[in-house]
Amino acid sequence: MNVIIIGSGMAGLTAAAALAKAGHQVSIFEQYPQPGGVTAPYEKEGYRWDLGQLLIEDLGPDEPLGAILAELGVLDKIRVKVDDRRYVFPDFEINKPEKVAGLRWRIDYLKGQFPGDAAGLERYWKDYLRFTSVMIIARRMVKARGIAALYWKARLFLKLLPLLPKKDWSAKRLMDDYFKSEKLKCVFTSILADFFTPPSQFIGLGIFALNPEASFDKRLPRQLAKDTEQLYYYSILGGIHTLVKALVETILAHGGQVYTSRPVAKIILQNGRVSGVVDQSGKQVPAEIVVASASAPTPNTTPLEASLPSWVPGGCLTRRPFEGCGLWGRKAKAAVG
Ligand SMILES: Cc1cc2nc3c(=O)[nH]c(=O)nc-3n(C[C@H](O)[C@H](O)[C@H](O)COP(=O)(O)OP(=O)(O)OC[C@H]3O[C@@H](n4cnc5c(N)ncnc54)[C@H](O)[C@@H]3O)c2cc1C
Repeated sequence: MNVIIIGSGMAGLTAAAALAKAGHQVSIFEQYPQPGGVTAPYEKEGYRWDLGQLLIEDLGPDEPLGAILAELGVLDKIRVKVDDRRYVFPDFEINKPEKVAGLRWRIDYLKGQFPGDAAGLERYWKDYLRFTSVMIIARRMVKARGIAALYWKARLFLKLLPLLPKKDWSAKRLMDDYFKSEKLKCVFTSILADFFTPPSQFIGLGIFALNPEASFDKRLPRQLAKDTEQLYYYSILGGIHTLVKALVETILAHGGQVYTSRPVAKIILQNGRVSGVVDQSGKQVPAEIVVASASAPTPNTTPLEASLPSWVPGGCLTRRPFEGCGLWGRKAKAAVG
């Protein structure tokens, strides 16, 4: 099928590579002169900087993101390395110990720094283990078939149960529930600055995913508890633009096109079906499927329709927080997710 993808960020590039590899005729329309969206590097006077993406979750070949890139034939074109981070606040730091000091070293260190919040840190730790377990069981469920899939589904539900009351909490509410110290709350939420999102607007349970213990000490053993493995963060050596380049090459190798400096002005709907796009020069380009990945609107508080770029026809989308959007030409209504 003839597919137009609006936007060449990670979402657009991955969708394009998958569709081109599956035999579809794919064209990406990107408004800026270079592909990559927020992963396009900033270049000046012969130097190149990534704008922020430093640690990427799950990039190992047996992990979800890595598996997708491996399937696309892209993973072996980039160099990835498990990495960890340190935190430096004005008056204290979190540095991994010189020698591996056990799975709970960070929680125990924080208990020493914030003794008034020791009980809250224990509650955080219990929920962190539960959440990580849910993530790992979910991975096994996706890979399993038949009875095994049902087994993992039941396990997932049981693990999830104690977390369900908190599923709609914001990160602020979660932190307020565990801790009294504002500084300690910052230890877990400061990373949200990356998302330009205040804790009051970020999904609470997402805090566990953004603070996996192995991302503070990559030497920790993989096994965290029964059925619970560490979640790892990776760096891409040479910068994230090497991933952009590898994806673009894959798209081109499968006959796709990447048009830069070509903004889409409008998506055309005919009788409730997508039939193509209009670019900024006014040219109509037909397509059976249009995938709109571009410029995710402000996260989960703003209703999508209110914050959509003007090129998306109104009244055709619903949205859940942090999901991309796609407009599928074959369906009468746009699909989201
Ligand atoms: C500072 C910072 C730090 C981050 N750190 C991390 C990290 O450490 N780890 C991690 O996993 N993630 C990180 N992220 C998040 C991650 O980089 C983004 O979630 C992801 O790259 C977004 O990809 P996207 O394709 O959804 O959107 P974008 O990259 O925004 O791509 C959208 C594209 O659509 C194009 N577009 C928009 N409108 C049009 C139009 N009308 N016509 C044509 N093109 C259009 C835009 O120009 C853009 O290229 C970070 C993000 C930022 C900003």
